[in-house]
Amino acid sequence: MSTQTEQPLSDLVIERVGFGIFVLDRAMNVLMWNRFMQDHSGLTAEQVVGKSIFHSFPELPRVWLTRKVESVFQLGSFAFSSWEQRPYLFKFDHDRPITGGVDFMQQDCTFMPVTRGRDVVAVCVTISDVTHVSVMQREREEAVVKLREYANLDGLTGIANRRFFEGRLRDEFTRWQRYGGELSVLLFDLDHFKNINDRYGHAVGDTVLRVMAQRVVGAVRTHDTFGRFGGEEFALLLPCTPLADAMVVAEKIRMTISGTPVEAEGMLVPVTASVGGASARPGLPTYEVLINEADAALYSAKRQGRNRSVTLT
Ligand code: GH3
Ligand code: MG
Ligand code: MG
Repeated sequence: MSTQTEQPLSDLVIERVGFGIFVLDRAMNVLMWNRFMQDHSGLTAEQVVGKSIFHSFPELPRVWLTRKVESVFQLGSFAFSSWEQRPYLFKFDHDRPITGGVDFMQQDCTFMPVTRGRDVVAVCVTISDVTHVSVMQREREEAVVKLREYANLDGLTGIANRRFFEGRLRDEFTRWQRYGGELSVLLFDLDHFKNINDRYGHAVGDTVLRVMAQRVVGAVRTHDTFGRFGGEEFALLLPCTPLADAMVVAEKIRMTISGTPVEAEGMLVPVTASVGGASARPGLPTYEVLINEADAALYSAKRQGRNRSVTLT
């Protein structure tokens, strides 16, 4: 009869099982060390058993681990540690590609009291490899952040989209209603943009929109929100800015747009824009009315011959 068959079944299971099992006494000496622990640590049961765990693994969190084990001895109940609280106990390699973003095998740990009668005689610690869970969770969190970002951005120009812009405007308008102060909005519409598409092609038209948006982004203050409102229409939200100052900004941006032709596919495309400005004033019921007033001013700028900034209030 071989020694293999003489081993109790439970021993064989403990050896082969796909997670780490080791046992500690109250002085933190190792009493048992299974194959998983051996394979991942590189230290055999012979090397580890009978010595303090900190002798074999000096890098372990000594205070934390001792406290955890001691609490199981004292209370006689299970204790746990999830990878979300402490990513790993042992610095074991994981079998994920390096691109997974985790440095070591992520581990869930269970601390189980081993009792004889009423006495806790040892603590059995299990280590589960949960690297795949942590990697998936990380990827999911990153995807959510990206989705949230994309939900706020315009696909062509990369600036805020209308939904985000209106959300910001709604917030600023509510703040203005409560605390007063100044709040202005500018609407920009590129002049005769249909002609640009017709003459140079839609792809050039797209490039013009992208370049214009980036130029304006470079010209506005960081706490102002610049967004694409529609096709070739843009909007700028200026919190804490009276109308007169907003119209100065309007002229600056109008000149930024018309100052240099846009270079696209080897062609120079001259672009101008018309601007309508409006400011919140007492009695204004909703932010939509503020937008309508800026739109009316924009319409007036178009009628007056385009390439100008107008306000009606
Ligand atoms: P106006 O000076 O009165 O504003 O004249 P306009 O030609 O700019 O005005 P209109 O609103 O009639 O036309 C806007 C054009 O903008 C029509 C549409 O084809 C074009 N446009 C809207 N969105 C895009 C886009 O994403 N890419 C391109 N290339 N063109 C667009
Ligand atoms: Mg236009
Ligand atoms: Mg338009």
